[in-house]
Amino acid sequence: MQAVERAEALPAAFLSLTGITKRFGRFTALDAVSLDVPRGGLVTFLGPSGCGKTTLLRIIAGLETQDQGRIVQDGRDVSRLPAIKRDYGIVFQSYALFPNLTIFDNVAYGLVNRRAGVAELLKLVGLPDAGGHYPGQLSGGQQQRIALARALATSPGLLLLDEPLSALDALERLRLRGEIRALQQRLGVTTIMVTHDQEEALSMADHIVVMSRGHIEQVGTPQQVYREPATAFVADFVGKVNVISAVAQGEGRVRVGELLLNGALGSEGLAPGTPVKLYLRPEDVMINGHASDHANVASASVQKIEFLGAFCLVTVTLAGAPMQSIVVNLSRHSLDRMSLAIGAALSIGLPRDCMRLL
Ligand code: ATP
Repeated sequence: MQAVERAEALPAAFLSLTGITKRFGRFTALDAVSLDVPRGGLVTFLGPSGCGKTTLLRIIAGLETQDQGRIVQDGRDVSRLPAIKRDYGIVFQSYALFPNLTIFDNVAYGLVNRRAGVAELLKLVGLPDAGGHYPGQLSGGQQQRIALARALATSPGLLLLDEPLSALDALERLRLRGEIRALQQRLGVTTIMVTHDQEEALSMADHIVVMSRGHIEQVGTPQQVYREPATAFVADFVGKVNVISAVAQGEGRVRVGELLLNGALGSEGLAPGTPVKLYLRPEDVMINGHASDHANVASASVQKIEFLGAFCLVTVTLAGAPMQSIVVNLSRHSLDRMSLAIGAALSIGLPRDCMRLL
């Protein structure tokens, strides 16, 4: 694992983590995690609950101490420095503003030149007139903007965001997502954001660090992580994916039930008889008129339709492999135009270059 992480190391590291291990009693929350975070970029730690992403962020902040490992920030070894001596600003999920202080005083906390700095910071987060209010008078999104202004007040080298959008409603999340990213790019501040929301990570990050059970599964750009997942875990956790059970037939071909397919990326060289799993995104499945544009055309029938607004998740069963269902993304209009209802027959195309073997 270590070798893979280092091989994918990001360029020009501002922050370098080497062999970070953290145990809580007999439980290993982080297992020798190594990672380089590039200067000026936004990196997200993405993973399911309990994978260790918050613990890693807290260790970077000095709010938790690692049992082993080294942290170098901007050329300085900060591994054993207390939080107060490190150079970062942090935003938590729960705003964490002082309720009895005005917005002005909340932002000014820790600033030397209070008057000039605060006005500029409030302008920066789009709330130039909020200084006289108290946190309780602001919406969740506004409070989080103030928390961001406070985190940026000392012009830190590193901005740490711990699930900053989780407590907000869907619309406010979307809005603040764009604002945080624009601000981060404008200031060029190296930023690490913890999230369990894959869409948030895909839309905001320069690089995503996918974590599972205390280790890193993959580091990559959003496109790399989504389109070229390194492991089955990443394919499954980031986005929706079909997992197709197949058996290698030699010369790159695989069999799914009675269907013989012309293989997938990585299926060349497999010994005949080897059981394999093929990973294919629902939006990459072709249907009807377009199915024959690609190798691997199969007859299928519609088993289930789930309406999700922007598109429908259509589950189909393959004629030659009734135990294998495949989910396809289609708009409601496309379904109607093709008169695809439960039980309808269709042909699907499983593009060879979109199927990965993991
Ligand atoms: P979540 O999104 O739920 O916060 P996470 O990926 O951020 O998940 P962490 O909070 O880093 O996960 O926790 C990783 C693991 O370490 C979890 O199993 C958690 O229960 C455990 N853990 C974290 N802090 C402590 C602690 N202070 N004492 C004991 N166990 C802890």
